[in-house]
Amino acid sequence: MDRSGAGDNNKETETLNLLTSTQVVIQDVLKRLGLPQGVFEILKEPLRMLDVRIPVRMDDGSVKVFSGFRAQHNDSVGPTIGGIRFHPKTNSDEVKALAMWMSMKCGIADIPFGGGKGGIICNPRALSFGELERLSRGYVRAISQIVGPTKDVPAPDMYTNSQIMGWMMDEYSRLRKFDSPGFITGKPLVLGGSEGREEAGALGAAICIEEAAKIKGLPLKGARVVIQGFGNAGSFIAKFMQQSGAIVVGISDVYGALYNPDGLNIDYLLSRRDSFGTVTSMFDGTITNEELLEQECDILVPAAVSNQITALNAQNIRAKIVVEAANGPTTIEGTRILSERGILLVPDVLAGSGGVTVSYFEWVQNKQGYYWNEEEVKNKLRKKMTSAFQQVYEISQYTNVNMRIAAYMVGVKKLIEASQFRGWI
Ligand code: NAD
Repeated sequence: MDRSGAGDNNKETETLNLLTSTQVVIQDVLKRLGLPQGVFEILKEPLRMLDVRIPVRMDDGSVKVFSGFRAQHNDSVGPTIGGIRFHPKTNSDEVKALAMWMSMKCGIADIPFGGGKGGIICNPRALSFGELERLSRGYVRAISQIVGPTKDVPAPDMYTNSQIMGWMMDEYSRLRKFDSPGFITGKPLVLGGSEGREEAGALGAAICIEEAAKIKGLPLKGARVVIQGFGNAGSFIAKFMQQSGAIVVGISDVYGALYNPDGLNIDYLLSRRDSFGTVTSMFDGTITNEELLEQECDILVPAAVSNQITALNAQNIRAKIVVEAANGPTTIEGTRILSERGILLVPDVLAGSGGVTVSYFEWVQNKQGYYWNEEEVKNKLRKKMTSAFQQVYEISQYTNVNMRIAAYMVGVKKLIEASQFRGWI
């Protein structure tokens, strides 16, 4: 049974470049679907990539110029959609790969959008509130020509939040000279945000955990869960796991990790974490993020950064299920090793599709000017996530591939079909 990460390519040297490894997976999927190399030329990079430089007046009167990007992978299905991250280490290749994953997520979640993504190289911790606002507004002015409610719809991602979305929506509305809530999602409720948007990414991942646990015959009540990252995604997943009766035995942030086999006091940790998702520095006796990943548990949820489970540590992972709430936490070799060991890996493009699904719901509500309550949003999300999970799992079973390849098969097929009907290929 071939449950490798990337078919014939799985013996290649491990690459940590997200763009290159995404291309390897897409090539593998095209081969399996019997599609020609010409199709790869369309899918291998975003169709559009804008590099911008944003001058910002700093509080001390000086001007600092920040670099940013907006990638639009493929708009054959519909406008593009995807978050904006503020991070000192983001770069052009990362943003391109993230846009490609968004295309996959949209296809898997069956929403009428293609993938987009944006990023600014900055350390938001080092910026004042005013500097952050001027940077956010400057970015919108820089990308305004290629974005809009029927072109490309941004959203929050790492180190961006509803306040930043509010400033960005206001800037876009001022430029266009009419109120444009549908320009961006993840806004505050009072500006046309959707109920349930903030926790949507985490709820989507939690629904995937429930489905994966059913497959493994693992009751969630009493299951031991380790979560890497305690930001928007990780902290809400911890809360949902606790509500399901699972025991969260480990969490982490950028500074370190906490592990207690008897369970952590999640309510206390939630009350003490800061807006950047950090909490561990309050405690003595922390372990490293690397050590956390290898601790005894039933379910491991990487919910922080990419390239965490690799050829170097995949043999030591002790979980039965790995659900990728973060983007790109497991490399191709890591995927291959986990799959060979019978560990069920739910890939990022499926487990992380809850956020973009509710972004789509927010855009729909903005368009119709009529808003759903939290229960309606969550029920609609649950329906989409369970059907996406089942579709991907079934394909993985009858084509003998791991769930990452199966998920990409769904996403790629959607793009190909739309491109064919448009006459692009
Ligand atoms: P966030 O900024 O709210 O939190 C990030 C967390 O990761 C923090 O706890 C931070 O301390 C920790 N962290 C940062 N660098 C780390 C490192 N090197 N090692 C260990 N921990 C580190 O971000 P978020 O919104 O929670 O997103 C986390 C991941 O989930 C990202 O990959 C993001 O793209 C993905 N994601 C999030 C959503 C969502 O709805 N928030 C949806 C889909 C995907």
